[in-house]
Amino acid sequence: MSLRLNADILELKTKHPFIIARGSQDVYRTVAIRLVDEDGVEGWGEAAPQRFYGETPETVLAALQTYATVLPSDPAQLEDAEARFARLLTGNNSARAALSTALHDLVGKRLGTPVHRMFGLDPARCPISTFTIGIDAPDKMKAKVAEAAQYPVLKIKLGTPDDLAVLKAIREVTSKELRVDANCGWTRTQAIRMLPILQEFGVTVLEQPLDPLDLDGLAEVTRRSPMPVIADESCITSADIPRVVGKVDGINIKLAKAGGLREALRMIAIARAHHLMVMVGCMIETSVGVTAAAQCCPLVDICDLDGAALLANDPYLGATMDGGQLRLPEGPGLGLSRR
Ligand code: MG
Repeated sequence: MSLRLNADILELKTKHPFIIARGSQDVYRTVAIRLVDEDGVEGWGEAAPQRFYGETPETVLAALQTYATVLPSDPAQLEDAEARFARLLTGNNSARAALSTALHDLVGKRLGTPVHRMFGLDPARCPISTFTIGIDAPDKMKAKVAEAAQYPVLKIKLGTPDDLAVLKAIREVTSKELRVDANCGWTRTQAIRMLPILQEFGVTVLEQPLDPLDLDGLAEVTRRSPMPVIADESCITSADIPRVVGKVDGINIKLAKAGGLREALRMIAIARAHHLMVMVGCMIETSVGVTAAAQCCPLVDICDLDGAALLANDPYLGATMDGGQLRLPEGPGLGLSRR
């Protein structure tokens, strides 16, 4: 069976400018793809390219043209397809994730089965998702916390000179569970100085305090930390897991980094073998990318799948997180529809 590939750049707007330690944006471009088989069945996927990992929408489109030359004749051979893409052209992980997502969606639709059922998972086991409060002036962050009233667990972006003021401002307006993501924004000294402060403010999880390559520093911060430390930018694919074992308490898996759903499942299994906590995250992306990542969530401890909830113009309906509880659609494949 031959497949046809369509790809379009989407312009996504966040409800607020989304600021993290390394910069700010309010327009995000992702690449929506459709794989269409000879019977007209469509699989949908999304690439959320990150400059931090060397990708842009344009590199995604170029990579997709290359991958389109080796689309599987049997879409159900999902392991083979991901391996073939990675062998043909390494890197371009978000482009490969889009293809993997679309193939899973297509195969699920042909089988009449949701992807999470193909994985043998119970959707009722999905954890609550955090909702992220991007960096802003303390007063604006307070307003965002008020807007996030329905979400019981918040993720706060830190990694600027205002970290203490931000934590104080947020604690003035909420007693909710807080997790912190510093997005590589601290030095070792700064991170170690922040640990007792984070504890005082009731922070329960600390994500990527240091530069991705400073693994010895991460080990030191983890040793001293009263809360679990999670590697995000330091752990891209399963091949990165052995070198972070013993240096962090857990890993944050994202499809745009992993390069596909099979690789994400492999990362979960390998992390579990090393007794690591497992988190699933996302980029700023639509319900297509978020719903794909959500298929793995019955297997994980914590998740941050607010990428679509942060958008002002998500064109799709898929997984939801009303009241923070992640819920998977029940339709075949990814169960997505157009809004
Ligand atoms: Mg992160």
